[in-house]
Amino acid sequence: MATTIKHCFCGNGFTFEQCCQPIINGKVDAKNAEALMRSRFTAYVLKNYQYILDTYSSAKRTHITISELSDSAQDTQWLSLQVLTHHCQTHTAQVEFKAFYQVHHTYYVMHELSGFIFESGKWLYNHGTMQKGSGEFSPERNSQCLCRSGKKFKKCCGM
Ligand SMILES: [Zn+2]
Ligand SMILES: [Zn+2]
Repeated sequence: MATTIKHCFCGNGFTFEQCCQPIINGKVDAKNAEALMRSRFTAYVLKNYQYILDTYSSAKRTHITISELSDSAQDTQWLSLQVLTHHCQTHTAQVEFKAFYQVHHTYYVMHELSGFIFESGKWLYNHGTMQKGSGEFSPERNSQCLCRSGKKFKKCCGM
């Protein structure tokens, strides 16, 4: 029987243990804004809101609570992530991504341009700007299912 490699939730092709887990556990720092962005997506999948809070910039962190974060994502099931672009300057960076998620039986895509800052030796999330094309969408029946099962949508979540 062939063993399938379980890819990290952020979808970059590595396993969770090689990818977002050591960043979320605090064993290593995210090496750039994209790695931090990926680890934050994975933390949302795992409902690790403490990590989400801890990776906001200090200016933003004081205005957010863990219960607000968990309430806002309560019915959200995060499915997959697509990183589109990553631009890095010395102390700021921008990552453009699409995150796919599901609320009950409806599918959504969030297309965001995120801004990051390098603060106290770490990359942190500062702000996000919603891009065109965000909102409800219907997955193609013959495309790969967004839940990363490796099956076609129509034979998996779309049944
Ligand atoms: Zn990852
Ligand atoms: Zn599925």
